[in-house]
Amino acid sequence: MSLEKTISHEQPFLMNSVSRNTSAEETLLAKSMESPGCLTHEELCALLAFENTDALFEAAYRLKCRLLGRKVALRGIVEMGNVCAKDCYYCGIRRGNPNVKRYQLSEDDVVRMARWCYDMEYGSVVLQSGELESEAHTEFIERIIRRIHDFGGDSFSITLSLGEQSEEVYRRWLEAGAHRYLLRIETSNPALYAKLHPADHSHSRRMECLRVLKRLGYQTGSGVMIGLPGQTLDDLADDIAFFRDMDLDMIGMGPYLPHRDTPLGRDIELTLEYAAKQLKLGLKMIAVTRLYLHDVNIAATTALQALDERGREQGLLAGANVMMPNATDTEYRRNYQLYENKPCLDENSRKCRNCLNWRVIAIGERIAWGVRGDSPHFTNNHRRPII
Ligand code: SAH
Repeated sequence: MSLEKTISHEQPFLMNSVSRNTSAEETLLAKSMESPGCLTHEELCALLAFENTDALFEAAYRLKCRLLGRKVALRGIVEMGNVCAKDCYYCGIRRGNPNVKRYQLSEDDVVRMARWCYDMEYGSVVLQSGELESEAHTEFIERIIRRIHDFGGDSFSITLSLGEQSEEVYRRWLEAGAHRYLLRIETSNPALYAKLHPADHSHSRRMECLRVLKRLGYQTGSGVMIGLPGQTLDDLADDIAFFRDMDLDMIGMGPYLPHRDTPLGRDIELTLEYAAKQLKLGLKMIAVTRLYLHDVNIAATTALQALDERGREQGLLAGANVMMPNATDTEYRRNYQLYENKPCLDENSRKCRNCLNWRVIAIGERIAWGVRGDSPHFTNNHRRPII
């Protein structure tokens, strides 16, 4: 089932009515810019269905500039390994994909790549890998965090993206020096989640993990995939409401991209029309999330760039304020393909840094070098002392 089919089936009235009524659009945009969280479910759906995307993106970008300035924060991503215990139907590094060459970086390699991010003034590093739960893995990560914290202190933010873990493990990593955690809920709709995962993958555990991370004091991020088969505009509006209900600090979401070695992606053809549709929906989600949440950090994710050479810049101009350049050594990148057509596989980290700098300058923004780039939503709420 295609997303377009699902949506046009369920929202035909909404789409027609909003595209004809310009002043209603303007009223809604003005209302959303006034204060966060003031839109109903129907209004969120209406914004997501806007055909006048220029006005939508412009409003979200204006709001972003007003609240966060014309600057972009960076986080270098280190893809530490692709060994994964999970078997998600959409993901290229799922356990059941025999065509992946599995790898795991050494402790020294991870620390070296994080050090490079620090020296290059990225302000923050994200450690990401497949999902593993074991004492050996916990200690491995703990040692890495300590070593990064030794040179970076609290002015260099350590972000983890290592999946579901026990409260005890999250606490140990926090105590070792981690600051932030990213755990995407993938979709806020439990029924859709169940269709995208084997029966032993639990939506409620993932939700509980997010609550634990917040309670422990992590700057907490989550997000969803956009344009999943079977996903409706109602689902996406609910996702945005979920971000607010969970009081999240950071949002990392991107278009779903089929991978041919996965049950979900096997039969989807990556046509130009499909790519354009996924990109547009991904950008709309960024814009509406900015308009509804206001002061959170929102990433212009790499998945946008897989769909369009300038996808990430378009994400920034639709209200995102964070970019996550790849800081993994080139030789490993090919084996960390969550989706196909992943960009920058042949580039080295230095080239990615230069390329990004020019891309940001070209749209009239500048990179905030060497600062942590905390989510204002987090610091405004003073959940933890600001460093
Ligand atoms: N294992 C970690 C992080 C690695 S996967 C975790 O569970 O948090 C990081 C993210 O990549 C996932 O949360 C998912 O949202 C995204 N992803 C995986 N497969 C994808 C695909 N085919 N298209 C788009 N995004 C995908």
